[in-house]
Amino acid sequence: MRIEENISLQPFNTFGIGETAAYFCEASTMEQVRLALAFAKEKGLEKLILGSGSNILFTRPFDGLILHINNKGIEVLSEDEEQVVVRVAAGENWHQLVMTSLKNGWYGMENLSLIPGSVGAAPIQNIGAYGVEVRQFVRAITYLDSETCQPEHILAEQCNFGYRDSIFKHELKGRAIIWAVEFTLHKNPAPKTEYGDIRKVLEDKGIGHPGPHDIAEAVIAIRRSKLPDPAEIGNAGSFFKNPVVVRNIFEQIKIQFPEVPSYPAGSDTVKIPAGWLIEKAGWKGRRFGSHGVHERQALVIVNYGGASGNDILRLSQDIQADILQKFGIQLQAEVNMV
Ligand SMILES: Cc1cc2nc3c(=O)[nH]c(=O)nc-3n(C[C@H](O)[C@H](O)[C@H](O)COP(=O)(O)OP(=O)(O)OC[C@H]3O[C@@H](n4cnc5c(N)ncnc54)[C@H](O)[C@@H]3O)c2cc1C
Repeated sequence: MRIEENISLQPFNTFGIGETAAYFCEASTMEQVRLALAFAKEKGLEKLILGSGSNILFTRPFDGLILHINNKGIEVLSEDEEQVVVRVAAGENWHQLVMTSLKNGWYGMENLSLIPGSVGAAPIQNIGAYGVEVRQFVRAITYLDSETCQPEHILAEQCNFGYRDSIFKHELKGRAIIWAVEFTLHKNPAPKTEYGDIRKVLEDKGIGHPGPHDIAEAVIAIRRSKLPDPAEIGNAGSFFKNPVVVRNIFEQIKIQFPEVPSYPAGSDTVKIPAGWLIEKAGWKGRRFGSHGVHERQALVIVNYGGASGNDILRLSQDIQADILQKFGIQLQAEVNMV
């Protein structure tokens, strides 16, 4: 295992922010993680675990140790006629896992196609798209406790999964290094087409009885048409979570904007798309030199090239202040700030 010094983080985050890390190392075995933790402890360094850097904003030089998890492997733990349980290493690529699952006839995750990132990060914010969340498939997680250096096993029921939320953003934040995730996948397809434009895309292609491969293709096509590709324009997907507001606040907004979209989110609360609020407030497509709000998706802040993490952060704060002033809603960032 090699610990590099003073490296640029630009290739390691999809925003393409060029901050530096004082120390950086890649770990593909638990022993390497333990050695890296011992190194950080000896030097008294701050630690940060990094997957593919697709949900992170670096706003300062990181003067500690960045540990990039890169273990590999997909293993079938058990299987019957209806289900398969697979154990997947944290360093595997998420989209590749979805594609491999489809190829093997393991279904359910096709609506989560093309989400960037690593398998290990997927449970942290309980990734979700097109009406499906990863928690529906997670059975258990193995993590290395960074304080005891011992592996721990936690069941999905103990992970407190919520909307873009889990125990790994709270009690276990900074402590659990996710090492492998166990998924239960299904052998009988149950396509979910009701969300977003999936049904419309399938109808346009003349597909009346879609299978999981059709769903994956439709999701990939929709995502490619709506979201900027980080390989071309730096971004981290949705910058903010969709706010969940109490019904009377929603009713007040509705008086002024009768067309406000919403989804039920509890007995007395509704979820409002943050992208709608930001677009309505006039931010969509606004550019400030090196960075701005994407022209096709108001929820995505982009780095056109050369923006600093603080440029992006300041823009996000300006948007938050404006939404608070116009709608009385405090937007929460989905992206992790460092
Ligand atoms: C174009 C685009 C589209 C996106 N679309 C979606 C979407 O539809 N739905 C959605 O939910 N998300 C979406 N995202 C966000 C992102 O893809 C997910 O959050 C993804 O799970 C992040 O994975 P990562 O490996 O890149 O994590 P990173 O960005 O590397 O890390 C994210 C956080 O997890 C921590 N972390 C990472 N790996 C580990 C580990 N092994 N153990 C412990 N902590 C760890 C990091 O410290 C950090 O706090 C999108 C991002 C982009 C760029």
